[in-house]
Amino acid sequence: MEMPRPWLRLLHAGWLHGLVLAWLSVLALPVRALGLEAALGERLGLHAEVLVEDAGPLTLDAAREARRRGEFRPARQSVLAHGLGARPVWQRLELEHADARPRELQLVAGMTWVDRVDVYIVRPDGQVEHWQAGDELASTEHAEAGLGLVFPLTLAPGRSELWVRAETPDPMLVPLRLLDQARLHNLERVQHYGYGLLYGFLLALMAYNAMLFSGLRERSHLYYAAYLMSFIAVNLGYTGHGWVWIWPGATGLQRYAILALMVLFGVCGLLFSTRFLDVRLDSPRLWRRLMVLPMLGLLGMALLALLDLHRPAVWFAFGFLALTTGLIVALGVWAWRRRKPAAGYFLAAALCGMGGTLATMLSVWGALPWNEFTFHAIDAGIMAEATLLALALAARLRHQQQAREQAERLARLDPLTGLYNRRAFLELAHGHFQAALRSTRPMCALMLDVDHFKAINDRFGHDVGDQALSEVGQLLQRSCRAADLLARWGGEEFLLLLPDTRQDDGHQLAERIRLAVSQLSVCHRGEPVPLTASLGLAALVPGQDLAALVGAADVALYAAKQAGRNRVALAEAPAPAGA
Ligand code: GH3
Ligand code: MG
Ligand code: MG
Repeated sequence: MEMPRPWLRLLHAGWLHGLVLAWLSVLALPVRALGLEAALGERLGLHAEVLVEDAGPLTLDAAREARRRGEFRPARQSVLAHGLGARPVWQRLELEHADARPRELQLVAGMTWVDRVDVYIVRPDGQVEHWQAGDELASTEHAEAGLGLVFPLTLAPGRSELWVRAETPDPMLVPLRLLDQARLHNLERVQHYGYGLLYGFLLALMAYNAMLFSGLRERSHLYYAAYLMSFIAVNLGYTGHGWVWIWPGATGLQRYAILALMVLFGVCGLLFSTRFLDVRLDSPRLWRRLMVLPMLGLLGMALLALLDLHRPAVWFAFGFLALTTGLIVALGVWAWRRRKPAAGYFLAAALCGMGGTLATMLSVWGALPWNEFTFHAIDAGIMAEATLLALALAARLRHQQQAREQAERLARLDPLTGLYNRRAFLELAHGHFQAALRSTRPMCALMLDVDHFKAINDRFGHDVGDQALSEVGQLLQRSCRAADLLARWGGEEFLLLLPDTRQDDGHQLAERIRLAVSQLSVCHRGEPVPLTASLGLAALVPGQDLAALVGAADVALYAAKQAGRNRVALAEAPAPAGA
């Protein structure tokens, strides 16, 4: 039975194809030879017959014998994906080359991580050609980074049989694709640009975060750079770039490199997330529990690699990455529910990363249909995640900056009156004072102290005292100009620095303030609280420093107190030097 090709394409795309093919396989319909032109560039999995080796390894002859006995079944997947720890598997398909001349082609058969792939062509004249590749062999001859294992074939005119045997405890993923030179180049170009874009984007972001760390010393940036680095490393590993370019032919390393890098990727993701979300500060117990995982992951992987337990190592790496990916999302939810800064961005980023990682892992595992979209889902997911995390880091930085500014502002203000405190006054007064010295313009300092304030506290209570202080503060604020500097100097003492003010003007202002304080109507349970204040005024004398000016105002204030309170006293001009 020949299936019309558009149908087949349609079916490839949807879930229907699984159903139809399952039904076809129940009927065990024979698979017909495939015309070469139709086969070029397509995924050929569905045109193949498949046999899983139950007993020991089969030779080609034994496999042909098994087929004669009807043990091969039509394939159900456009790309054969049997998951982790699968048994060795054969795929067979027939190719019809109608042209009179032989045709040189490239066969993509299997991912670079597959331990061993044997490709046999049984030519129309019965002759057999055999190639072997895979990352348990020392040669990387047939491995092409980003593409998979690629074999050069010459198809003779007529009907040839293609037999492909694959063996690996790693994810059994054996796509079959025949390409002519033009298609191969096209595919390579797409791969190169694609990986160039991916690595370029991630490397730039990584370098930028490393620089931010070196400047800001904020560890989140460092862990984030490490996380990006670990993704690039694991991606280089499983796409074959590592084996072909970085550690060519090192089979022992290749056997565990991808798995170890997967674990490292999970570890870095977890470290970054806990750091970014301040888990240690917020919930030390949770943090201590989580920090066991990176140790367990790295130690476990190291142990499995040392003992050369390949199959358990595969399960371990996939399990660990799935666990950490899930945990990172769970941490995002935890932070989001606690309304942590930038947790929304983080959660969205983690969901993108998790979606991509899971889609790719499941497709490689064989639980999702394997195609360009599912295989590269992790790349798209990580790029989206990286973008969102960059925004998250920026949002967190902004939040920290705002908090710092707020703290700095609060540290300068007196909480009761909202006026500057003594520290802020001294910082700000310096500028005013220098300007006055340079321009030789007049300046006054006015110090105010509430009279018998202790008695007010004693009689009306501390709350009323507070209220009175706050009222006096507001009154002073209303009384001064924008250029004046007002502060709560201490308990019930206030200090005003008045630039561009001669003693006469300062005196008038002080009198106005004194009067206004005495007229303040602070009441307690209907009873008026008697409020007066004494003030000391000092005008700046050439050669005086700020402390001396304030000291002079304080001395004047003392004089006002001595003279009976509720009055203004002027500082005496200091005796001329040498007198
Ligand atoms: P004098 O007229 O000589 O200045 O007498 P006084 O009672 O005002 O002076 P003294 O320095 O003896 O007492 C100041 C009091 O102000 C003592 C302290 O408990 C009170 N005080 C200082 N800061 C505050 C505050 O923030 N709120 C209240 N309610 N009282 C304060
Ligand atoms: Mg007082
Ligand atoms: Mg006092």
